[in-house]
Amino acid sequence: MSQGLVTASYIVAAVFFILSLAGLSKQETAKNGNLFGIIGMAIALAATILNPATSGVEWIILAMVIGGAIGIRLALKVEMTEMPELVAILHSFVGLAAVLVGFNSFIDIQPHEVSEVVLVLGQDLHTTLESAKAAFVEASQVQQAEHLTGAMLNIHLVEVFLGVFIGAVTFTGSIVAFAKLRGLISSKALMLPHRHKLNLLAVVVSFILMVMFVQAGGAVTPLILMTLIAFAFGWHLVASIGGADMPVVVSMLNSYSGWAAAAAGFMLSNDLLIVVGALVGSSGAILSYIMCKAMNRSFISVIAGGFGNDSTAASGDETVGEYRETSAEDVADMLKASESVIITPGYGMAVAQAQYPVAEITKKLRALGIKVRFGIHPVAGRLPGHMNVLLAEAKVPYDIVLEMDEINEDFSDTDTVLVIGANDTVNPAAMEDPNSPIAGMPVLEVWKAQNVIGFKRSMNTGYAGVQNPLFFKDNTQMLFGDAKDSVEAILKAL
Ligand code: NDP
Repeated sequence: MSQGLVTASYIVAAVFFILSLAGLSKQETAKNGNLFGIIGMAIALAATILNPATSGVEWIILAMVIGGAIGIRLALKVEMTEMPELVAILHSFVGLAAVLVGFNSFIDIQPHEVSEVVLVLGQDLHTTLESAKAAFVEASQVQQAEHLTGAMLNIHLVEVFLGVFIGAVTFTGSIVAFAKLRGLISSKALMLPHRHKLNLLAVVVSFILMVMFVQAGGAVTPLILMTLIAFAFGWHLVASIGGADMPVVVSMLNSYSGWAAAAAGFMLSNDLLIVVGALVGSSGAILSYIMCKAMNRSFISVIAGGFGNDSTAASGDETVGEYRETSAEDVADMLKASESVIITPGYGMAVAQAQYPVAEITKKLRALGIKVRFGIHPVAGRLPGHMNVLLAEAKVPYDIVLEMDEINEDFSDTDTVLVIGANDTVNPAAMEDPNSPIAGMPVLEVWKAQNVIGFKRSMNTGYAGVQNPLFFKDNTQMLFGDAKDSVEAILKAL
């Protein structure tokens, strides 16, 4: 494949990635969006492998086969509720890749001993693989690297340093996010004393190390020191963010992983990687901003590890009074007597896989002439759009699935609200208790309806670890049990 054709393929792949992002922005076009992404990536991979400047194709193919097999197995095995964890751990791989590419690039630009090692390795490779092409490319890369002097060398050193820094922060930050989402560590915010000063110190020291690194024309000690600091910094940034703010953290790490990929693109002089990294980085940043706005959080505060979020909030997991229980038959009677019903699903619906009986109930109630709609909180579940995906899967019509802002004013005119496995997203403490860890987060104001039914298995708290006064209100009744079983029992009684 000629170099011109490679460049043309990269442009086509970049266009497919842009189309993919556009497609993924709406439920109706999301499938096509995925397809465009797959086509773009296939073109990018083919062009990279067939690029005459690519050496060690055998190794690339071997890595692709192993990586692809692991990826396919994971994707087939993963439950929908485990998706956020998978996304978080995949972000960590991008971060680690950027760190490795950075160190590799650093070795490449070493004029003396290290580059000699690279040359020897290149010769070994040549002998072993009997590939003259590989040796030529290796040698020309080293030559090219040796020719980096003055401003160009400094720019490249800064690229390497920043790439490793962003990659290392993304790597450990994503691992902490994975552990929090999987419940391996507490979802509560870690409140180290002077934590903001520690963060600031990490940034300032890393900056000083960068200056030393560049001044020395690429010294290994500052690079390694900064990598260790960045690992600790990434871990601390995410550990300091509380459970309810995790959605923003996940999209923020998505953005970081994009910038890490773009940094790797600069180091490798790969235009497509720069474009794709920038697309992921900026779309992740836009998503984080949208999520922050939806949750009434400061963007800067979240990306700075909860900066300014110093309320000595009570954990808020103590019980608040008496609750009333109900039965599936009573709920069925209540629904039949209602003119309007709103269903607000949450993470528990995903765990129970209750979306199918929920779709059945919706059909049945609508056939009885009852107005049924869904109210979706922007962070319900564990992924942006999690509830929308589940409801679409169960073929609930899009036009009755409304966003929080579209439906919040209608609760006061609603007879019955079914809160199916939702907790934090319907918690009035967010609006009523300024000391609550979720204070200020907009929620679905379900308590304004005539009757509220809470579907849960126990009185346990939601993801943020905060008790929910909704379940103790006079107009709320609890239907305990697995959400799928409860909804099926109501369906039977209807
Ligand atoms: P929550 O996680 O707050 O609560 C889920 C509720 O479902 C729990 O109270 C649990 O109670 C109940 N539940 C669990 N399993 C079942 C089951 N099988 N049957 C019935 N009930 C069940 O859910 P929300 O959706 O309201 O809120 C999402 C939370 O997750 C927010 O804090 C959000 O910030 C956070 N988050 C969201 C992300 C996103 O992108 N959307 C990403 C990361 C975090 P019990 O155990 O008693 O049954």
